[in-house]
Amino acid sequence: MSEPKLDVREVLLSAEEIREKVDELAGRITRDYRGEKPLLVGILRSAFVFLADLMRRMDLQCEVDFMEVSSYGTGTASSGVVRILKDLQEDITGRHVILVEDIVDSGLTLSYILRTLRQRDPASLEVCALLTKPSRREIEVPVRYLGFEVPDEFVVGYGIDYAGSYRNLPEICVLKPEAYGG
Ligand code: 5GP
Ligand code: MG
Ligand code: MG
Repeated sequence: MSEPKLDVREVLLSAEEIREKVDELAGRITRDYRGEKPLLVGILRSAFVFLADLMRRMDLQCEVDFMEVSSYGTGTASSGVVRILKDLQEDITGRHVILVEDIVDSGLTLSYILRTLRQRDPASLEVCALLTKPSRREIEVPVRYLGFEVPDEFVVGYGIDYAGSYRNLPEICVLKPEAYGG
């Protein structure tokens, strides 16, 4: 085992574990979408590392687009009222769309995005999420391709931030309390 990195209390998922899981998910997507050209929609900014790895392990033609949303939450609880900061460039009518998300927590953000995109008549719409915190769920969201269940802890790394930092950690980590400035 190597030394823990600066500010990291615990590594929940190693780079190797993540790599194996991403391979498995990419393999399933490759089989399920054979003969199609799905549009992968990454939710900015936290899903970009996962999306970049996932698409390079798919043996399939695909396209990529991004959305950025912000939830009008109070404090840490997301309210379910979501504002679209950056919409898709592509018209998804008749397209096979796979939403790629970092974490499903309450589920409110994803369920809003799913409702919005369904109104645009895609041929199909599925979710691929790296992490889920089932104990926090307030609304059910159908996640077809799921990486890992994690406990109710605030995680960072592999694209996921705290106050804009730590996205470049190659693992999924929990920070030391000092790192939060507390
Ligand atoms: P939801 O609407 O499902 O409650 O919100 C999900 C979003 O909250 C995730 O996409 C992610 O951006 C953020 N989130 C949830 N849990 C964590 C966490 O442990 N760490 C970080 N950095 N963001 C989280
Ligand atoms: Mg997110
Ligand atoms: Mg984030």
